[in-house]
Amino acid sequence: MQNLYDMIVIGGGPAGYTAALYAARAGLRTVVLEKLLAGGQAALTGQIDNYPGFADGIDGPALGEAMRRGAERFGAESVFAEVVSATLTGTPKLVQTAGMEYRGRTVVIAAGASPRELGVPGEKEFQGRGVHYCAHCDGRFYAGKTVLVVGGGNSAAADALYLAGVAERITVVHRRDALRADPIYHAPLQQAENVSFLWDCTVEAIFGGDQVSGARIRNLKTGECTETACDGVFISIGRTPETGFLGGQVELGPGGYINADESACTNIPGVFAAGDIRTKALRQLVTAASDGAAAAHAAGEYLAKR
Ligand code: NAP
Repeated sequence: MQNLYDMIVIGGGPAGYTAALYAARAGLRTVVLEKLLAGGQAALTGQIDNYPGFADGIDGPALGEAMRRGAERFGAESVFAEVVSATLTGTPKLVQTAGMEYRGRTVVIAAGASPRELGVPGEKEFQGRGVHYCAHCDGRFYAGKTVLVVGGGNSAAADALYLAGVAERITVVHRRDALRADPIYHAPLQQAENVSFLWDCTVEAIFGGDQVSGARIRNLKTGECTETACDGVFISIGRTPETGFLGGQVELGPGGYINADESACTNIPGVFAAGDIRTKALRQLVTAASDGAAAAHAAGEYLAKR
């Protein structure tokens, strides 16, 4: 039957392409539906040093492309289209993009998570004109300029360190008095001469003309508000799982992530979740790839029993 696949993989990041590699290599007819770029969030990262096998690191887009080609070598297909809805409880399972319906005996949901927004005045208005969510993608526009980085986790720390090599002055605005980021980031950030911190502070508004020219900062301890001049604001406050197209069919856990353990099984037989979109302790490239392998294995077992 046309468009009937053994496995439909939603999302072409490391989880999705690893699932596709394992499935296609096992002889399953497999398609990957990806809305943007092979590699997912990793494709938006400049230098990746914590994925094993690359002694000198590798840039994100190159790694994403290599993952795509690796899966396609065994016959997996890639379609660059956004999934808008899915009907997962029946047989076969149906997955819709804007122009096509795909039928799958199994589905692996590996759609990842997208940057969380602050939700303050000016944020939406200045998106792409001074408000950014990816330092490695957009940081190069800020050579010699002044930027704020909002957040205190690993992403904010990594973004601030990256921007320290590009921009003139970086201020990290964090709502608590200490970073949540792993200790490995602390010393380099403290030592970077052009990085400073505003602790216990939040960005209340972002303003400007054609481009961002400043932000209003509130000190959460004193309640005092000040305006600070800046050319850009990089928001790194975590991610939101991309589950909107599922329409509530798949059981979600804390933070809206799909309830699935190491086995990748969801509450729906034949539907698996892999990578950043599932509940897990550590969201990394290597754990996403691991999930992809587990999902393909579980899907293979599910198909073998039918
Ligand atoms: P995260 O670890 O959830 O940290 C989000 C940060 O943003 C926290 O410091 C949080 O403050 C702050 N925050 C959240 N909502 C906020 C709001 N509305 N206003 C102001 N601040 C807000 O997210 P992440 O840094 O994006 O990292 C996501 C995952 O990717 C993590 O598992 C991380 O380890 C991983 N990652 C790893 C690396 C690496 O190892 N090289 C690099 C990047 C990301 P609180 O601290 O007060 O909660």
